[in-house]
Amino acid sequence: MKNRILVTGAGGFIGHHLVKRLKIEGNWVRGADIKLPEYEPSPADEFEVLDLRNYESCLLATRGKVDQVYNLAADMGGIGYITAYLADISRNNILINVHMLEASRQNAVSRFLFSSSACVYAQAKQNSPEVTPLVEEDAYPADPEPGYGWEKLFAEELCRYYRHDYRLSTCAVRFHNVYGPLGTYDGGREKAPAAISRKVALARNGGEIEIWGDGEQTRSFMYVDDCVEGLLRLMASDYSESLNLGTDQLVTINQLVDMVSTVASKSLSKRHDLGKPQGVRGRNSDNTRLKKVLGWTPSISLEQGLAVTYRWIEEELRKAGRIPGPVGKAAPENERVNAAAGQD
Ligand code: NAD
Repeated sequence: MKNRILVTGAGGFIGHHLVKRLKIEGNWVRGADIKLPEYEPSPADEFEVLDLRNYESCLLATRGKVDQVYNLAADMGGIGYITAYLADISRNNILINVHMLEASRQNAVSRFLFSSSACVYAQAKQNSPEVTPLVEEDAYPADPEPGYGWEKLFAEELCRYYRHDYRLSTCAVRFHNVYGPLGTYDGGREKAPAAISRKVALARNGGEIEIWGDGEQTRSFMYVDDCVEGLLRLMASDYSESLNLGTDQLVTINQLVDMVSTVASKSLSKRHDLGKPQGVRGRNSDNTRLKKVLGWTPSISLEQGLAVTYRWIEEELRKAGRIPGPVGKAAPENERVNAAAGQD
């Protein structure tokens, strides 16, 4: 066994993919989450269902000589969710992060990785769709997304204080829109690629789908396998500050819809609902530091990743009886990921 690793949020989207990869690499892994993974069982050696807002639960999760903690647990969702529940999200995530850091210190964890977000970046620097890619320093002077962005930014600070005062080795990663199979695609917490894939899959060819905002807002999107690769590399490094982890392939939401429609071989018209939340006008990742620190940047194209993600969501909807057609035609998820990524 290489390392003893705790992944919090292991019942969620990125955490579950991370546990799978850490197991393939031969590590001993404990997963912790308030719920089990939704779509397939966790391969973790131990999986503890715990509410990590409670300090005692965090002590339990970090017990027994854990070397590394990937702290991914968070109350989160897409733009509709994070703009609706400012108090709950802030309180829940502050409690998780404060208690996970202190429990990791008490149980002598060697390295602690905090999953932050591009939502920490100053809103005033993201007013144009042709946004200048954000460098890590653009988080200050602080003007982050209300609620979710503020609590992430504060938790990044807290990581610094634990490093300064207690010499706990910490780092923080700022994800830019991670997507892929085995992620939430319905129910209110889903993010744009999953929500659009669901809408396209449910629409009839020639029909219409609803888009939030005018669709000219821009973002970059990272496939989950690239995200997991970046996490492993960051954990293995001795980098101790906040680091972007995303692609710099900027697209408008309208372009994203067209790409998903192409995958689905559907021709759809867009109905823009300007009353719905759309977040900042433009956001992209500057990967200069990522490349320097990790000697690597994400490489899976949006076209490749969306094809895999769309097929998985379409199959889930078929299984649920929400679209017609025989279930099980699609290849198993891993085969499709590797094929789309151009790997063997
Ligand atoms: P997710 O919602 O799928 O996973 C988060 C997990 O945390 C969930 O399984 C949830 O049950 C768990 N959780 C919530 N409250 C908990 C509690 N009190 N105790 C224990 N577990 C709890 O989200 P994800 O996309 O996998 O995100 C993982 C991390 O990455 C989060 O910290 C999120 O803020 C961050 N992030 C994700 C993205 C993205 O695009 N997916 C972007 C920026 C940041």
